[in-house]
Amino acid sequence: MSTTFNTLLAGALFCVLMLLVLGSLIRSGIPGIKEWCLANVLAGTALLMHAFADALPPGAAIAAPALHAVGVLMVFAGFRHFLGRRMHWFAASAGAGLLVAALAVLHDLPDVSAWRSAALGLFEASLSLAIVFTLLRARKSVRWRFPYLFSASAASLVALGNVPRIVQALFDAGEMPRAAWDGFFLAMDAFILPVLSFGAVMMVHARMMAQAEQAANRDSLTGAWSRGAFLELVDRELSRARRTRHALSLLLIDIDHFKHINDSYGHAGGDQVLIDVALRAEAVLREIDYFARIGGGEFAVLLPETDRYAAQAAAERLRLALDTKPAGDRDMGTRSAVPYTVSIGVASLRDADSHSDLMRRADAALYTAKAIGRNRVVSESD
Ligand code: GH3
Ligand code: MG
Repeated sequence: MSTTFNTLLAGALFCVLMLLVLGSLIRSGIPGIKEWCLANVLAGTALLMHAFADALPPGAAIAAPALHAVGVLMVFAGFRHFLGRRMHWFAASAGAGLLVAALAVLHDLPDVSAWRSAALGLFEASLSLAIVFTLLRARKSVRWRFPYLFSASAASLVALGNVPRIVQALFDAGEMPRAAWDGFFLAMDAFILPVLSFGAVMMVHARMMAQAEQAANRDSLTGAWSRGAFLELVDRELSRARRTRHALSLLLIDIDHFKHINDSYGHAGGDQVLIDVALRAEAVLREIDYFARIGGGEFAVLLPETDRYAAQAAAERLRLALDTKPAGDRDMGTRSAVPYTVSIGVASLRDADSHSDLMRRADAALYTAKAIGRNRVVSESD
């Protein structure tokens, strides 16, 4: 059996393996996976058709490279879908149509294999470049960039690798004997799809991990930190504050008469208030502050490097931003559909504090704020 045959078969086998891996991820519901599965089916079929070309009708010589090229197109479509970007199907179909037409026309002419190969090269190089740009633009929005860089590097290698194919057709030059060129292109065609799919699988895994982390650490309604994650953050910041001798303060925020809001506006109205609190609070707080939902209508904010005076000022700013009652002294634009107010308790770190000491003192201050009339800020020492 020839090396060509073995290479094509190995490529097809890899496509099948990647198809199985991608298939096992379909249930995650992450967009793009179906396109990548289809890409591997197309490329695997193309490679098998190429391997068994002798046993197939002559039309297979047009169909196999066309299928492979559409496979690369589907990889691109998968990346676009995965990243929530629109796929320009009209342009893509026009490109694929032109390619198939070029392959069909060139097939009937004698001695034009280099031109055929150039048409394929142009199509695959353009798609690879499009993949590179799409991935490089998207990588900034994710924490773990390696899968994006891996896939982008693989795609740029394909784009680069196709350049000699095009040059060869234009100038019919090249020091390398035809067989060596062909071996190089063959290897590239056989393995590009599995390698790009490998990058795609890593991207899917990274997204699944981010989603699991989000589900475990974030409140699903407001996007704020969940209680458990927040307590861990408090412990971490507490040790850091001790080590660096920095101040640290905690605010406990509770929506006033939330039961009444639920009774008057329904549970959905209450939920709207919770979302509104989170939106307004995130807008007022600093980047380094931690905002958490720690109970039904109760929130907490951890303020690193903030002493009690600064914390009290921050709490007052927050209370004002969350006073959406018509009597509030802000303009109409900041009002919420369901008006509400909040009470806030403030506590700051003392030497021998554990996180529960800090929480307890903030809670006591909050209790006082409720007792003396609500819609106000009370500091632990007041
Ligand atoms: P106070 O001013 O003394 O805080 O009075 P309150 O009515 O707000 O009393 P409390 O803070 O104990 O009320 C909590 C209420 O929050 C009880 C429950 O009806 C409501 N709640 C808890 N979780 C949710 C939720 O996820 N959505 C909605 N809409 N309401 C919730
Ligand atoms: Mg309440």
